Amino acid sequence: MNYIFLGPPGVGKGTIASKVIETLNIPQISTGDMLRSSVKQGTELGIIAREHMDKGGLVPDNLVISLLKERIVQDDCKEGFILDGFPRTIPQADALEQSGVIIDAVINLTAPREVIIHRLSGRRVCRKCGAIFHLENIPPKVQGICDRCKGELFQRDDDQPAAISERLEVYKKQTAPLIDYYKEKGILKEVNADQKIENIVDDTLAAMQTSA
Ligand SMILES: [Zn+2]
Repeated sequence: MNYIFLGPPGVGKGTIASKVIETLNIPQISTGDMLRSSVKQGTELGIIAREHMDKGGLVPDNLVISLLKERIVQDDCKEGFILDGFPRTIPQADALEQSGVIIDAVINLTAPREVIIHRLSGRRVCRKCGAIFHLENIPPKVQGICDRCKGELFQRDDDQPAAISERLEVYKKQTAPLIDYYKEKGILKEVNADQKIENIVDDTLAAMQTSA
């Protein structure tokens, strides 16, 4: 079974995906990570992707999809995969479909806007190891210091109030239309992401399993 995780920034797609893959024996494929790893490995497509990134441009959709197709024929995807962060637009979703990649279900994680803003604005990241904390929800043991490596915690520019509004606006314009797009295809499942993480994980697993 192949899945897409959909939802606004801050709703917890990446976190939830990383939890459910502990139960389901399938990988979480983040296109950002996939791109970085193919660039690092210096594969043929990775080299082309790098040229785009070096020029400061976006990697074209068809290249991302080619990379994805290379990724999903690997052994660990035999039982399926979770796409996290792609597609982000209707043209990308169309291109994905035309490329022959089958998507069985789309999990749409939802939470009220104020909950999302609260989550994003309280987020702090370790400068050294990248660990993620939250001022209230996942506070570090010592304020401003990473539990894992004692590195300094900071607020990413992305998580500043003005940037948050901008990200939510981009999501609403470009990505939210995918909700109706997949609803019309009859493969959309809604999950309430405004509850305790264990419950979100349980509900997500249930939604994924009823799609089988
Ligand atoms: Zn750290």
